[in-house]
Amino acid sequence: MKKNLLNYSLDELKEIAAELDGRAFRGEQLFEALHKRNTDTISGVKSIGRELIQKLEEKYYIGKDENKLVTNSKADKTQKFLFEIEPDHKGNKYLIETVLIREEGRNTVCVSTQVGCNVGCEFCATGKMGFSKNLTVAEIISQVYQVKKISGEEITNIVYMGMGEPFLNYDNMLKSLKILTHPKGMNLSSKRITVSTVGFKDKIKKFAEDILSDKEIKNVKLALSLHSTDNGIRESIIPTSKKNKLGMIYDELSYFYSRTKNKVTYEYIHFPGINDTEEDIKRLVRISKMVPCNINVIPFHPINFELKTPLNIYNGSDIDISLSNKKLFELIAKLRDEKVVVNLRSSAGVDINAACGQLTISNQNTLTNHHKVI
Ligand code: SF4
Repeated sequence: MKKNLLNYSLDELKEIAAELDGRAFRGEQLFEALHKRNTDTISGVKSIGRELIQKLEEKYYIGKDENKLVTNSKADKTQKFLFEIEPDHKGNKYLIETVLIREEGRNTVCVSTQVGCNVGCEFCATGKMGFSKNLTVAEIISQVYQVKKISGEEITNIVYMGMGEPFLNYDNMLKSLKILTHPKGMNLSSKRITVSTVGFKDKIKKFAEDILSDKEIKNVKLALSLHSTDNGIRESIIPTSKKNKLGMIYDELSYFYSRTKNKVTYEYIHFPGINDTEEDIKRLVRISKMVPCNINVIPFHPINFELKTPLNIYNGSDIDISLSNKKLFELIAKLRDEKVVVNLRSSAGVDINAACGQLTISNQNTLTNHHKVI
């Protein structure tokens, strides 16, 4: 079976070139064609010569996520992309979603790392899908390349906050970071990349060591999906946090900062009446002093699922937006009064279900050839 060249690092491509052609430097030319010029076919890699092209074509191909649908927000300039990834060994096809967020001076791609997610966060539509498979390195990086090509935009930032938990597809996530930041490829500064996780024992520490071992990715930012500073509430909305208590995660974040000196971001979805009490604010102030950090407060974006306790208070009735906005701004103001660095994360793309927690493919079996770009 032929293999996808986009899955290989520069060193691996050099080995392939040395084996097929006797000249390792051809691997470097191949890497540049794949990741700097985004060539779509092996025959399009003119720099490596006809003989190597023919040998490569016998064993390899260049495969990218296939665009099935582009949905444009009417409220802002956000675009959501529906990609079909390569079928698995049983021939099953899968769809994923990727988002392009356009803001003043930056274009951010929000990439997916898994088809679905088995963490099962109560507020997240992806978590309600269950888990189908991990994305390959090629399937992760080609989201960026395809969004760039289709939108015609220069991509300035990447966030690993789409479908799936990046730390549960750790090796492919890490390899994709190395490829996207490589000077001979897309050469994106690692300062412009953020990886988000709900937090797992020993993984944050490992991530610190892994990014330090490669100068190109040493500035990648880490975001923790916090959402509550109370272990009990957090466990009821993020099931894996039962085994990954906050005390342990705070220790790992302290370690991460002590080793990398990279500021940490806490993602905090505002659940009015649940995580905005005076006690919550005191705890947020306390954790904000542990390591240099900022807290991104995110409005809760309703999803089309029945929610369990404690979020069940939102079932059956639309949230009173004006009231929840008032409470949201009160929360932010109180934190700022305590000198906490707080940002309000925008709800870009909420009208096309492209905002935080809203990505989902309701039925993978509905895949047809009739999707079109709108
Ligand atoms: S929020 Fe992230 S980790 Fe939780 S279910 Fe959704 S995709 Fe998975």
